Amino acid sequence: MQLLAQTTTDSNDLFGGFKDFFDSDVWLVVRNVFFFFLVVFWLASAFWVYKDARRRIEDPWLLAMAVALGIFPPFLGPLLYMFFRPPEYLEEVRERELEIKAMEESLGQAERCPVCRAVVEPTFHACPVCTTKLKEACRRCKAPLEPLWQVCPFCETPVESPRAVENL
Ligand SMILES: [Zn+2]
Ligand SMILES: [Zn+2]
Repeated sequence: MQLLAQTTTDSNDLFGGFKDFFDSDVWLVVRNVFFFFLVVFWLASAFWVYKDARRRIEDPWLLAMAVALGIFPPFLGPLLYMFFRPPEYLEEVRERELEIKAMEESLGQAERCPVCRAVVEPTFHACPVCTTKLKEACRRCKAPLEPLWQVCPFCETPVESPRAVENL
C-alpha cells in the first residue's frame, strides 16, 4: 500500500514537473528558438528556390511562380519545385546552342554557289542547280582550277586566264 502511494506520488511529481517545465520561461525560450529556426529555414529554403530558379528559368512569370511555390507551402513547396524544375541551367542551354550554332557555321563554310547558294563540291565546274560557271577547266587535263591559280596543279599546264589572253 505504501509502495503504491509512493509510486502515485512519484508520477504526480513527474507530471507536475512536466507541467512546471511547460509553464516555465525555459519552455517559452525553447519554443521561441524552435520557431525562430523554423522561420529561418523556411526563408532560406524559399531563397534557395529563388536562386536556383533564376539560373534555370528564363520566363519571368514562371520564375515568379517558382518563387511563390518556394515560399508557400513552406518546405513542401521547395520539395515540389525540386521535382518539377527544369533539368538544365540556362548557361548550359546557351552553351549548347552556341555549340550547335558553331557547328552549323562550320558546315556553312562548305563551298556554295555565288548565285543560288546551293552547296557545291570543290571539283564542280558549274553549279548543278543554276548552271552558273564556277571554275575554268584545265586546257589539258580538264581539272577544275581556282581563279588565283597560274598553273594547273595536276598537270603543270600554265593557266591561260582571260586577262592573260587580253594582255597578249
Ligand atoms: Zn547555283
Ligand atoms: Zn591540268
